[in-house]
Amino acid sequence: MLAELSIRTTKRTEFVDITRLVQEQVAASKIKNGICYVYVPHTTAGVTINEHADPDVVADMEMMLEKLVPWRAGYAHAEGNSAAHIKTSMIGSSQMIIVQEGRLLLGTWQGIFFAEFDGPRSREVWVKVTAD
Ligand code: ZN
Repeated sequence: MLAELSIRTTKRTEFVDITRLVQEQVAASKIKNGICYVYVPHTTAGVTINEHADPDVVADMEMMLEKLVPWRAGYAHAEGNSAAHIKTSMIGSSQMIIVQEGRLLLGTWQGIFFAEFDGPRSREVWVKVTAD
């Protein structure tokens, strides 16, 4: 089973908490124990796992990524969004999470974030759950 989630981002850079959406797909799969793969099929958006209790954590990540990879820095890529491509490779395009007893096995403070770097746009996240 492959689930395709649609996400609408609202800003150029935005971390969207998709933990609940992914957990819903795990539940729909009826798989109790296995692996959940989360894949983002875009070149200017990725997916990461980090703290979702304090929203300042992702705000700090946005701020520091912007400092490390400014939007304008004399890039060659004519589309003008090289910063988004670079941030996407830094963050990565996939995550895998252990599924145990029908639940994503995440740490207490962990959440799954869709990481938008060239929004606002309509985006997709692919989720696949496989059994042990
Ligand atoms: Zn581009």
